[in-house]
Amino acid sequence: MPKNNIEEDWVYNNREFNLIFILFISSRKMTDNVSKERRREIMSSVRGKDTKPELIVRHFLFSKGFRYRLQNIKLPGKPDITLQKYKTVIFINGCFWHGHKDCKIYVMPKSNEKFWRDKIETNIARDKRNIAELKNLGWNVIILWECELKKTIRENTLTNLIESIPNAKIL
Ligand SMILES: [Zn+2]
Repeated sequence: MPKNNIEEDWVYNNREFNLIFILFISSRKMTDNVSKERRREIMSSVRGKDTKPELIVRHFLFSKGFRYRLQNIKLPGKPDITLQKYKTVIFINGCFWHGHKDCKIYVMPKSNEKFWRDKIETNIARDKRNIAELKNLGWNVIILWECELKKTIRENTLTNLIESIPNAKIL
């Protein structure tokens, strides 16, 4: 793998990097009036894997009897959830980082717009490549967006999710 690809991979895959970057940017504004609770929330999201939307999906699948593998590094794009039995992978995408089209969450920051646009377009292109590769390998690929897991529409999203898993047997 060429060097710059490795670097890109690192930046792309490393949510900690992205979140720390946000923290860095917002640190100027972050004064002592940020509550302890909020701070804890931010720090726990910085720690990585267990972002909330992903937990919602995991708990739901588990309760329905699905067993899965997390962050499967053996597959293109390191899918968040792999359901080996159903040859299905699930990505739970943050709307901003993955450039969710026509989504309210995906709003370009006013400053450094070009930087962010380039960065996110790179992510979108990479997602496309990974999905194509996974499909070529015979995987059923499901993308869930962070905004689809908002409380008001979550149930609907999760019901549709089950329907997108071929031959799924639920509890
Ligand atoms: Zn969205």
